[in-house]
Amino acid sequence: MTRTVTLALAAALPLLLTPALVPASAHASPPPAKDREPVGHELPHTATMSGRGGAVASVDPVASQVAIDVLERGGTAADAAVAATAALNVVEPYATGMGGGGFFVYYDAKKKRVQTIDGRETAPASLHEKSFLGPDGKPMDFDTAVNSGLSVGVPGNLAIWQQALDRFGTRSLRQSLAPAQRIAERGFVVDEAFSAATAENAERFAQFPATAAVFLPGGKPVQPGHVLRQPDLAKTFRLLRSKGIGAFYDGPIGKAVVDTVNHPATAKGVTVPRGGMTMTDLRAYRALPKKPVTSTYKGLDVYGMPLPSAGGAAVAETLNLLEQYEKRTGTPLSKTDGVQYLHRFAEATATAFADRDRWMGDVHGAPVGEILSKGFAAERACGFDPAKAQARPIAFGQPDGRYISCGPLASGKPAKVNDGASTTHLTVADRWGNVAAYTSTIEQFGGSGMVVPGYGFLLNNQLTDFNFAPAIKGEPDPNLPAPGKRPRSSMAPTIVLDHGRPVLAAGAAGGPTIITSTAQIITGYLDRDLTLVGAVGAPRISSRNTATDIEPRLYDSKTGEALRAMGHPMKVKEIIGRATAIAMPARGWFTAAAEPTRGGGGSGMVVAPKW
Ligand code: GLU
Repeated sequence: MTRTVTLALAAALPLLLTPALVPASAHASPPPAKDREPVGHELPHTATMSGRGGAVASVDPVASQVAIDVLERGGTAADAAVAATAALNVVEPYATGMGGGGFFVYYDAKKKRVQTIDGRETAPASLHEKSFLGPDGKPMDFDTAVNSGLSVGVPGNLAIWQQALDRFGTRSLRQSLAPAQRIAERGFVVDEAFSAATAENAERFAQFPATAAVFLPGGKPVQPGHVLRQPDLAKTFRLLRSKGIGAFYDGPIGKAVVDTVNHPATAKGVTVPRGGMTMTDLRAYRALPKKPVTSTYKGLDVYGMPLPSAGGAAVAETLNLLEQYEKRTGTPLSKTDGVQYLHRFAEATATAFADRDRWMGDVHGAPVGEILSKGFAAERACGFDPAKAQARPIAFGQPDGRYISCGPLASGKPAKVNDGASTTHLTVADRWGNVAAYTSTIEQFGGSGMVVPGYGFLLNNQLTDFNFAPAIKGEPDPNLPAPGKRPRSSMAPTIVLDHGRPVLAAGAAGGPTIITSTAQIITGYLDRDLTLVGAVGAPRISSRNTATDIEPRLYDSKTGEALRAMGHPMKVKEIIGRATAIAMPARGWFTAAAEPTRGGGGSGMVVAPKW
């Protein structure tokens, strides 16, 4: 009963924009004037909600409420997604923001089709194939590359925001950035998870005075209960609201970005590699409208992001392989026990990663069409044994259009690829049936560690998603650095349609585990009879063609034991990814689901909750 009342209140709050109650501990000195009080922390952390009128699932209740406010006032899913992601720039600044990029997948209810925007960062014209090699010709130390100007790609999120509003929205950028500006001005109350993330990054943030000034007040990580105000970031939002994204791509913000990249302002005694970005790089930046990758899974249509994200194709190949395993064994996934389900799942994702690592990157002629084909999946499935894990690494396949029941396997071992573990995924749906699945990132949690002085946002380190050197000995590598190129991603915002109607949208954070988490949620919900929040919260496994990552509660279970007995090499990983999803089982009815516990739990909300 209490829960019901809390939820009802949550959805009814016109929120962020009203003063919030602040615990006494949040203010050491006299409380600020009402309009300076922090926002949002009174909102309940509710992982799931069902009802009507539109829905949002994000990692943070403040961002979710921003989206709900927009939906309530008649905004589209695109309007709400832009406003909420800008808010995430304030309350989840280590995972996303205008200093990074992302991928936006959108079901347009009027046009009845799925379209995408590629807002991945680009390499400056100065970057070349050997940029991440040291003087000895060996790959540079990864952490050195991360915390540097060299790793910063030309950011794409602002270009996505503008394009999403232009193509799918009804509101202006000026309106859309207003809540974010207000939250940055008034501040939000830091929670345990934010404080812990700051502490984890404290050492590298301390290298950059502009970053330390925001997140390490008095030289220490922001503590739970601290009201974090970000006046420089608020000023940046104000500037963007009055001048538009030109202030970034061809104006003072961009100039400050270029200065920071080329001359990182470091603490005394610290030097980091410089980048070589120019205003010409920024002016040339375009968010690209792209056709989604499409595939089918058990009669449903699955839409995902094309290259430079490998996410769409790898999720599709995983699902195709699971279909093939059903054919080979005669037992549908829904009828298997938990061990067989996860065994099949791990085999499928490991196989998909073998192909991703060999074939995918921001290059012309990557054989994505073939990788998505059922024939390729049938050939790739032939190594599957229902009783035993295939030895890792599984060799990559030959997506050449000539498939036999068991094709020749190529040789070649995948080398370690550099992928971080951060990012945020936002899912939004509106009353008209539009759906946005938007994954955005600054790469590592905390990006390059560099806040742009005077502007208050962190810059990405996305270029470390390039392979520093060829990944597979003796094979061409589609993911080497090059001027203007976009580094390969794993981000996998996904929308599933049933006879043309969206029924599920999902995506995740967590570097390469994004692909496995997204596919696990899709199969958990569609095949395993889990509720949506059950599918999001279920213990995860991530087999990416090396040792299989597994969460402790699964590792310690009988299922984990049985999987090890089948030959799955395992490495315990405390948390695999953070995800959000929305299910639309009937027209006008929404279930939003976020993480119940991972990362402190996320926030699912609907406009008009029903229970
Ligand atoms: N850079 C990663 C990717 O695009 C996302 C960041 C992360 O989650 O580590 O795949």
